[in-house]
Amino acid sequence: MCGIVGAFGVPECGRKLSLMLKSLQHRGQEAAGFATRDDGKLYVHKDLGLVDEVVKHLDFDLRLPGSVGIGHVRYPTTGDPTNRENIQPLQAHLTCGEVAVVCNGNLTNYRELRERLEASGSIFRSTSDTEVFLHLLQRAGGNGIVSRLKSVLTQVEGAYSLLILTPEGLLVARDPYGFRPLLMARHENGFMFSSESCAFDLFKATDRVTLKAGTITEVNAVGVATHTFQTSDYRRYCAFEDIYFTRPDSFLGDETVDRRRWRLGEALGHKNAIEADVVVGVPDSSNTMALAFAEKSGIPFRFGLIRNHYTGRTFITPSQVARELGVRMKLNPVSDIIEGRRVIVVDDSLVRGTTMRKVAELLREAGAVEVHARLASPRIIHPCFWGIDTPRRRELLAPGKTDEEIAAACHLDSVDFLTVEELRAALGDTDATRYCTTCFTGAKPVPEHEMPTV
Ligand code: AMP
Repeated sequence: MCGIVGAFGVPECGRKLSLMLKSLQHRGQEAAGFATRDDGKLYVHKDLGLVDEVVKHLDFDLRLPGSVGIGHVRYPTTGDPTNRENIQPLQAHLTCGEVAVVCNGNLTNYRELRERLEASGSIFRSTSDTEVFLHLLQRAGGNGIVSRLKSVLTQVEGAYSLLILTPEGLLVARDPYGFRPLLMARHENGFMFSSESCAFDLFKATDRVTLKAGTITEVNAVGVATHTFQTSDYRRYCAFEDIYFTRPDSFLGDETVDRRRWRLGEALGHKNAIEADVVVGVPDSSNTMALAFAEKSGIPFRFGLIRNHYTGRTFITPSQVARELGVRMKLNPVSDIIEGRRVIVVDDSLVRGTTMRKVAELLREAGAVEVHARLASPRIIHPCFWGIDTPRRRELLAPGKTDEEIAAACHLDSVDFLTVEELRAALGDTDATRYCTTCFTGAKPVPEHEMPTV
């Protein structure tokens, strides 16, 4: 999962892109990078770290000048996270000019494409799947960069939202199923692009639209043009965007993600059959869901778990001891609220079960007499190949287990999940034509021939 931003016709765009990207920091903390163009020259600045660390003491006028540019925050799903060559934007001198590219998604035929390209002479610098766009663009036939990109996009498969800084302006594309978000808005006489609308709010950008799946948006001095490269009868927007990834103040269509999360929490509260004294959420992602659960179930909500926002990545180290300490540094119970109570803890999802196991332990240590978990998404039973960092099936907790077995594994008195039908109803997808829910069902989200071979 990553976050991408772009700007065209936006003065001082380097500085503005850095602020936009900072508001997408939740989508990736591993690395950040920018490319701008000024007077025909391409400028790139990128490094490992948070946006603030990467742009610290940066002279934007000198290092990222111009009014057109792109930016990226990285959450590694493919490629070695410590390899600096993987930090986006990736740039290349193509015969059509020097370009830079940023992408959010995961190409499911990356291996095959890379092998094919290497066999015929391509030399890759990175291990990021985004690099194949550059190699394919160089080789693509066609008149002009839009037709070259169209031919590239008919070869790649998977999830991608893409911004390319070209000599003329920007090319912006979404895969035919629209797995990942990408929006455009107006900023004074220019345009802004972002994975999420929260980045537009900083600049009061107006006329926000979600870019259509299967299209290329071309932005240059002439104006904005949309080109369709593939149509599909259905969309596969990632349900996990609504459940976990997207900021609640961001919009999906005319609705905030917060409202969608509220409905998920309500659906969970509606079917609650447990008597308890208090509902607590696992902050921050499940706050809205826990509040909605409390309102619907009639059990009072309290801030029973406090999150320390300053532990950051410094605590994310590979050793298990440090990981355990990391959860404890991040979350701590408010003992007054928990002691002697029957607690329902609401979280957005259960992947490996690490968080829930630790939370149950913390709550019991704080004196909870019962701990019941309620998850505002269905059981995750299948890995994701389209960009969410859900692990291999054997690392997932839920597959093959009953609720009782899951509860026992996490030291809980009980556990309950939303069903896929309840999830779809809450997201307005009862005919199953809009969302990808493969991690919950295992059903193929795309035609058989586009499925990854694993
Ligand atoms: P786990 O601890 O492995 O069961 O993962 C579930 C917890 O991690 C929940 O508290 C979620 O809010 C959070 N979570 C869910 N998906 C992701 C993800 N892709 N990356 C990081 N955290 C996640």
